[in-house]
Amino acid sequence: MVIGRAHDGEQPTAIEQPYQYRRRTLVEPDWTRFPGWADVTAEQWSSAQWQRVNCVKNVGQLREVVGDRLHESFYEDLAADMANSATMSMLLPPQMLNTMVPELDDTAPGSWTDALAADPIRRYMLPVASDRRTDWPSHPFAARDSLHEHDMWAVEGLTHRYPTKVLAELLSTCPQYCGHCTRMDLVGNSTPTVDKRRLSLKPVDRQSAILDYLREHPGVRDVVVSGGDVANLPWKHLESFLDRLLDIETIRDVRLATKALMGLPQHWLQDEIVEGMGRVAKRAAGQGVNLAIHTHINHVNSVTPAVAAAAAAMLDAGVRDVRNQGVLMRGVNDTPEALLDLCFAMQGEANILPYYFYMCDMIPNAEHWRTSVAQAQDLQTAIMGYLPGYATPRIICDVPMVGKRWVHQLSEYDRELGISYWTKNYRTSIEAEDPDALTRRYPFYDPIDTLPKAGQEWWRNMKSPERVRADGDEAAARSREASERQASSSADAGA
Ligand code: SF4
Repeated sequence: MVIGRAHDGEQPTAIEQPYQYRRRTLVEPDWTRFPGWADVTAEQWSSAQWQRVNCVKNVGQLREVVGDRLHESFYEDLAADMANSATMSMLLPPQMLNTMVPELDDTAPGSWTDALAADPIRRYMLPVASDRRTDWPSHPFAARDSLHEHDMWAVEGLTHRYPTKVLAELLSTCPQYCGHCTRMDLVGNSTPTVDKRRLSLKPVDRQSAILDYLREHPGVRDVVVSGGDVANLPWKHLESFLDRLLDIETIRDVRLATKALMGLPQHWLQDEIVEGMGRVAKRAAGQGVNLAIHTHINHVNSVTPAVAAAAAAMLDAGVRDVRNQGVLMRGVNDTPEALLDLCFAMQGEANILPYYFYMCDMIPNAEHWRTSVAQAQDLQTAIMGYLPGYATPRIICDVPMVGKRWVHQLSEYDRELGISYWTKNYRTSIEAEDPDALTRRYPFYDPIDTLPKAGQEWWRNMKSPERVRADGDEAAARSREASERQASSSADAGA
């Protein structure tokens, strides 16, 4: 609480703030509140293997855990989503399911259903049909590989998008599947609506091809080792890859991507992993290479003592930093309070740096999660000034064909049509011959349901994406003229 200066003889008064910080102790919710886990011991719970074996993968398994505490209508809603809309299959480690409705011990019928339906973690990990928008379930420009990561594969699994950095997708599975996964084109099992792309090379050949490419391209200094989630690679394979990566002296940053640090912290607490990470971290530090872990936490309820213990184990092993790259989503974390609560729990209680929040990408069936750029800008402004500067996350728009841009970096924004325009200062690996790559303006699109009526009408009247593109250019010209008019009237007013 912030204390105001008291006048003589008066008690200090609290200054009312838009966000009120209070330190909160992390809590591991009691898993025995779930009927199916009533007899699960602490020893079982802390076993990575038990967690993996007892993942919830379908409606029947969810029913075994939660039973008739959930109304049948919830199971039907879930089944309908899996059949008709889900771009990711269901895969929930008990650790993650246990962070939904964390305090509910009420056995009254109906209360679990209502609480789970409203739960922010459920909303993105266990999507149901009634969550999705029926007017605009997908944006007309939504795409399976919305960031063109596959188009930019230099070799299978290696996306070369930025001049000095690459993304190495070593595998296409994770210990948990997130409904909004931006890599839904590749990651996870096929669903009734999405037939997934498949990696075709054997893992050993893919890794060799990636390492060969990095040896041949000394300008690449930074490798995000990802997937999928590296927690699904057998440790000896991951360590072997990292060792060969560290043999390349031009590699100076290595970032390991694992949501499992939160979704399955038991994995990162295993002796084999902690000891192995110690060896890799020692070698990296000896060579002056920055070795970090990047995780993916979207809500404060996910930050439990087990997650803090996993982060501590990795830092003790010698990893330089554990950073969070969350995703900004409607109904999950799209308020200043939700973002700040999460950031303070990570920064203050778990030693995880709140690094980025990405706007949810333009993948199919994601409009109910996506926010507008305007809302993201407002949120960025609202969270400034509370956290230490270095721990204040940047909210990021990952603009197709551009890359990560801070949400205030756009060059133009037509709020009526929900089209923002962005520029960039480097070529991706597929634009070597493109003379306009550095002068072109690249569009990004807000969810249509967030637009004013006139903007929604404009989109409703569009007949095809091609037409939208053409009219989008007209819209850009219109928006440019408006900005010029505004600039000149401001100049006149100032003169
Ligand atoms: S952990 Fe990451 S890669 Fe895996 S499903 Fe979730 S968002 Fe996708």
